[in-house]
Amino acid sequence: MPQDNITPRQGAGPASLQAAFAPAKPPAASFSWLGIAVRSSPFIILHLLALFAIWTPLTTAALVTMFVLYAVRTFGITAGYHRYFAHKAYKTSRAFQFLLALFGCVALQKGPLWWSGHHRGHHRHSDTPLDPHSPHETTFWWSHVGWILSNEYSRTPSEDIPDFARYPELRWLDNWHMVPGIVLAVACYLLGGMPCLVWGFLISLLFVYHATFAVNSINHLFGTRRYDTPDDSRNNWFVALITFGEGWHNNHHHYQSSANQGFAWYEIDISYRILVLLSWFGIVWDLRRPGEKALNYRLVKPQAKAPTTLAGMDAAAREKHGPTAQPVDGGATPPRPA
Ligand SMILES: [Zn+2]
Ligand SMILES: [Zn+2]
Repeated sequence: MPQDNITPRQGAGPASLQAAFAPAKPPAASFSWLGIAVRSSPFIILHLLALFAIWTPLTTAALVTMFVLYAVRTFGITAGYHRYFAHKAYKTSRAFQFLLALFGCVALQKGPLWWSGHHRGHHRHSDTPLDPHSPHETTFWWSHVGWILSNEYSRTPSEDIPDFARYPELRWLDNWHMVPGIVLAVACYLLGGMPCLVWGFLISLLFVYHATFAVNSINHLFGTRRYDTPDDSRNNWFVALITFGEGWHNNHHHYQSSANQGFAWYEIDISYRILVLLSWFGIVWDLRRPGEKALNYRLVKPQAKAPTTLAGMDAAAREKHGPTAQPVDGGATPPRPA
């Protein structure tokens, strides 16, 4: 997917928080404050319901559920929605493809086609007026959550994700993306009562929301830049830790189709480690990684070579992927039929 209309940015700061939810660009014809208010209400209600935690005991079962669901949801969004559906960073079977979509759905961030289609738009127009959620073109809060709640981006951009929109089961999930989350909430209540519902389902959901949303807001404002990308993406270790590796966002904008986003040994990337583990069992395969040339291309400080420890990177992969950032939807083949 070509990167057109990209304007290099030089560390612009966030716009005034007074206009926290207002887009700085001229609103699209479909923009409506009423639409935002209506769409925000479930999101606000979910946050208010979290107050029940004050009166709900944190049992061991609820604590375990909270951690397990945080992990499953974060993996579903990062390894599923992001690295697989948006970037095709590895291959898998049609059955596991569906499971990844399901894991993403229980994070209640809309459907896999909606999420990955808009994310491809983010990479195509990063930090330009056409970026759905640039904190430079809009505000911190718009980039964090406002764009999701607006009616400006409520449509699934199927034209940006035709490679996955052709699967009927994914289209079904995309249309009924709330169903898996609702079923999970009911299951939590039936199996563990209010503690599992409030702590296990809800509190973990809110943590996953703000951790993954931080990649769109914080990672385009705060952190370091290893690569001179045409956007203002940043590496942020804290966001990387809580998002299973997504915080190495400048690395990611440099080489979008890579299965790993932490390039150095100290850049912890839990999603990638899980993918490697799954590859040992043949559940996923053909994990894409940047070659040596790509790792050392366009460094902000050319003398400081990218400290790679990607010992498993084979020479064929280096030759195949070349020195520059790859198109977000390039090179991968459709999943193997179940
Ligand atoms: Zn970005
Ligand atoms: Zn991406």
